[in-house]
Amino acid sequence: MTIIEPFRIKSVEPITFTTREQRTAILNKAAYNPFLIKADDVIIDLLTDSGTSAMSSAQWAGIMIGDESYAGSNSFFNFEKTIQDITGMPIVIPTHQGRAAEKILFSIIGGKGKFIVSNTLFDTTRANIEVSGAEGVDLLCPVGKVPQVPAPFKGNMDVTALELFIKEKGAANIPLCMITVTNNSGGGQPVSMQNIRDVKRVCSAHGIPLFIDACRFAENSYFIKIREKEFADKSVPEIAAEMFSYADGCTMSAKKDAFANIGGFIALRDEALALKCRNLLIITEGFPTYGGLAGRDLEAIAIGLREVMDEHYLQYRIRSIEYLTEKLIAAGVPVMQPAGGHAVYIDAKAFLPHIPSQQYPGQALVAALYLEGGIRSVEIGSLMFGKYDEGGHLVPAMMELVRLAIPRRVYTQSHIDYVSEVIIKVFNDREQIKGLAITYEAPTLRHFTARLMEIS
Ligand SMILES: *Cc1c(COP(=O)(O)O)cnc(C)c1O
Repeated sequence: MTIIEPFRIKSVEPITFTTREQRTAILNKAAYNPFLIKADDVIIDLLTDSGTSAMSSAQWAGIMIGDESYAGSNSFFNFEKTIQDITGMPIVIPTHQGRAAEKILFSIIGGKGKFIVSNTLFDTTRANIEVSGAEGVDLLCPVGKVPQVPAPFKGNMDVTALELFIKEKGAANIPLCMITVTNNSGGGQPVSMQNIRDVKRVCSAHGIPLFIDACRFAENSYFIKIREKEFADKSVPEIAAEMFSYADGCTMSAKKDAFANIGGFIALRDEALALKCRNLLIITEGFPTYGGLAGRDLEAIAIGLREVMDEHYLQYRIRSIEYLTEKLIAAGVPVMQPAGGHAVYIDAKAFLPHIPSQQYPGQALVAALYLEGGIRSVEIGSLMFGKYDEGGHLVPAMMELVRLAIPRRVYTQSHIDYVSEVIIKVFNDREQIKGLAITYEAPTLRHFTARLMEIS
């Protein structure tokens, strides 16, 4: 039976259509960089799933009843209670985004000579760790590093590597272990409950606190339900509760699994740490009952956090990513397997074997998808992560990927069918795609503003 979108549409946003000629001009003007294209010039926008969700009618109603009192607003107490119920953590500190939560946490527990270990740190998390002077260490399980080999929990942390790392560096130099669920940078792949238990056991034995980067906690919980036998009959809130029960704290961006357009939080058990966090919060974000958010945002997040655990929604969500992945696999398109929770990743190195890493095959594919169908995607490869050696030669990234992130509740099955048709058309014409050269780049995070041109 077809799994249908578990919602009706009450309010719509029109899509602006463009012709191929128009898109050629737009792409040239944007110097082959999707970040420089106006959103109005995009037909299907798969740049990110962050802050791009469609809010529900209940969330919009929450926007109207948001309490904007500076201190002690009703909306804060609703927000706090919701997060306490889901995580079992007593202390809830709102922030304006996930990275603001990270900034506060790592300013306090980071610092020179310290190591933060993880399955894979998301880029803002790593940046906030490094800005504090500490070092971020990714200890992903080996199968998580092989794009086209399927396994149920490719986001798992390598527990043996964790034990060795603790032995080598000393637990005293590791103030925190952070598990990212699902593993965003690693393809939206889930982490199993067994892995969280194993990591917890190792952390506890050495007195290292375990935190969860909970941006996609509901998607991860659903994967546990369908892929980890023991949890087949458990509800998503029960699974989430067990996951959080192993953690001493968490950070979350509400722009992901809370269906909100902005927001985030830190949740904790430790009162002493919370005191330090709140002191920083007041300087950087705001008073502890709003933390850089309007009351209406707190309200919308609280409602979204409850909605996201609905199993009809999660079934549709996970299935729609899998559906696109299956169509691409059937046509021979090289993609990361199995499907992750929020995005489809195309292996651009295998898609465009005639384009070397020095000519950015991922970015060339991003450009081709835009030209063919007005689809906006993002390169996760040598443009984003490439470095130069001392001789000025590019040291390519480990993989050349193109990410198609699917916004929550925004696109229907026919949009996704269209996306697959465009990708397959581009795949069949792939020999015609040319490599790119950079004409301008900034010293850091160059992918956001880089300008490129086609190599003829
Ligand atoms: C988006 C994201 C963040 C950062 O959140 P922002 O709200 O964008 O600042 C942190 N971790 C993960 C896993 C994310 O996906």
